[in-house]
Amino acid sequence: MTPLAIVCVGDECIILDSFTEQLKRNLGNNYEIEAAESGEKALEILADLQESGREVALVISDYIMPGMKGDELLIKIHDQYPKTLKIMLTEQADIEGVDNAVHNAKLYRYIAKPWAETDLILTVKEALHRYNQEQQLARQNETLQQLNAQLEQLNAQLEQKVTERTLELQQAVIAAEVANKAKSEFLANMSHELRSPLNTILGFSQLMQHSLSLDPQQKENINIINRSGEHLLRLINNVLDLSKIEAGRMTLNETNFHLIDFLDDLENMFQLKADERGIQFVCDRNPHLPQYVRADRVKLRQILINLLNNGIKFTPEGSVTLKIKNQNSREINYSQHQSPNANLLYFEIEDTGIGIAPDEIHNIFEPFTQTKLGKKSSEGTGLGLAITRSFIEMMGGKITVNSQKGSGSTFRFNIPISLVDAKDIEIKAPMRRAIALERNQPVCRILIVDDKWENRQLLIKMLSPIGFDLKEASNGKEAMEIWELWQPDLIWMDVRMPIMDGYETTKEIRRIQSKILQDKDRFTIPHSPTVIIAITASTFEEEESVIVAAGCDDFVRKPFREPIIFEKMAQFLGIRYIYQEEETLSRKSDTNVCETSLLESLSVMPQTWIDELYEAAESINNDRIFQLISQIPPSHNLLAQTLSDWVNQFRCDRIIDLIECTIN
Ligand code: ADP
Repeated sequence: MTPLAIVCVGDECIILDSFTEQLKRNLGNNYEIEAAESGEKALEILADLQESGREVALVISDYIMPGMKGDELLIKIHDQYPKTLKIMLTEQADIEGVDNAVHNAKLYRYIAKPWAETDLILTVKEALHRYNQEQQLARQNETLQQLNAQLEQLNAQLEQKVTERTLELQQAVIAAEVANKAKSEFLANMSHELRSPLNTILGFSQLMQHSLSLDPQQKENINIINRSGEHLLRLINNVLDLSKIEAGRMTLNETNFHLIDFLDDLENMFQLKADERGIQFVCDRNPHLPQYVRADRVKLRQILINLLNNGIKFTPEGSVTLKIKNQNSREINYSQHQSPNANLLYFEIEDTGIGIAPDEIHNIFEPFTQTKLGKKSSEGTGLGLAITRSFIEMMGGKITVNSQKGSGSTFRFNIPISLVDAKDIEIKAPMRRAIALERNQPVCRILIVDDKWENRQLLIKMLSPIGFDLKEASNGKEAMEIWELWQPDLIWMDVRMPIMDGYETTKEIRRIQSKILQDKDRFTIPHSPTVIIAITASTFEEEESVIVAAGCDDFVRKPFREPIIFEKMAQFLGIRYIYQEEETLSRKSDTNVCETSLLESLSVMPQTWIDELYEAAESINNDRIFQLISQIPPSHNLLAQTLSDWVNQFRCDRIIDLIECTIN
């Protein structure tokens, strides 16, 4: 390393020599010591030293010099070499010069003449030490600045990465949203594609269940088809429910209902199931349970059905117990339940079944999870508990489970509910089977619009025995033409159809209707506005508002139950039916009793009518048979219905057999 330089400046040779000599002696060869006899010379030396890459640590200058004075020189040096330290040799009276040098040249020290060598050397050594420290500091500072710059660069790179990652994430979120939307659309489509044919399967099997002409084996087969269809529907609904939960599209739908009736229903249902399995079912209810409550009844029912079904399914012997108690608002501490009507219902489903192993219990609420033992019972999908927990949490409750392998499981959950008045409960009419219209009811014109032949057939077969005037259309365009010419009282409108879908058709009908109303001077309104009820296979609640917005009066979801169709028609058309009571239904399924009552009914019909029916049956003239059936009085609807069923099943031979029975 090149030694540091010290420049001594003074015009008096003796002083300059003694000065440099003292320095050389005390500092050894560690420093290069230069002497300059004037300020100008000193500047030259400094310039040379700098040019040859040498560092000048210290300049010691006399003050009084001819030409450039000491303070003037030091100011110049400071301007050009700010790092170099400066010391000035002064007389006592040179205060002004010292002051100038201190302020403008950052004078490090001044040494009064005559100086003592020790003082001089101490001051110079101290100055050199200071210089070295400052240089070291400067170097450290430089390193720090470099590090800082690197840090800033890293920071900038990091920020860039964060921005890129945020962008990627945003794109991923958008992609996920698109995927979610695609999934929802896929679900809506699948829902339609699966539920539509299922509607036909369940509908026809229900229709056939009522048929009196089936032998016991056929009846059992139909029951199997129906049960399997219902099972398939449950599976589809489970998968759809879970997808809806995952897509955040499941909503709470609270209604007022009679809690005790609700529990009675469940108790009856599970009593039967437990009896079938040969286990005991106990329903232990707190006697102070509220009667009328508000909650999401459908979800609560599904939760209890899932848990009780599991209890029964996984309990080969012993019992399943359902316990229900409640806690009113005074006993509840949660702030959200402070309303005086708030109540918390506690449910406990305990079984003495196979239980769940400790290493499996934490996962059982995850979708598609089944325990090793659970998998052995080939039923189930592992979705029930996942849906159950989501529903409970949506309703504001919590579920826990305790279980011991081999000795049974206990599921406990609570849900908040509100108490309501008896007057706020909507009493639902029991689901009875309509078999005919009451006397003096108008013959209503019903248009069935569906692109699928089998779906139209299902409604036609349900409605024709009752005595409606029916027409069918396979798309919206056809429906419009029939509507304009025929003015039906009610349209059953499938929403998804090619050419012109149910929404478009409904909108168009409503548009024309309101135009007719506006121009009523020019037109006479032939009819009150047609009631339009949509039939949808979608399970998405949003669809309801779309259906209503299109102008439909109501909607029915596929798969529908026969009584729903009749109830809706009664509600909108104001018609009344004759219903087949439950007991009669089962009694009439007895073939002997049935045949007797058919013969009785036949005997009240005029002989000419019977002869004509016989003739029509022999020549398989279905139109004529239906005309004759329409003359059967409503009080003998069983006969009308049975004959219609036989014609529809191409069994005119059975009509002939029946008539021949009356002759024999
Ligand atoms: P699934 O019953 O359709 O398989 P769940 O989600 O309802 O689906 O249940 C998941 C699994 O949890 C079951 O397959 C079974 O292994 C276990 N499980 C649920 N309830 C019980 C119970 N009461 N006793 C024993 N195991 C049960």
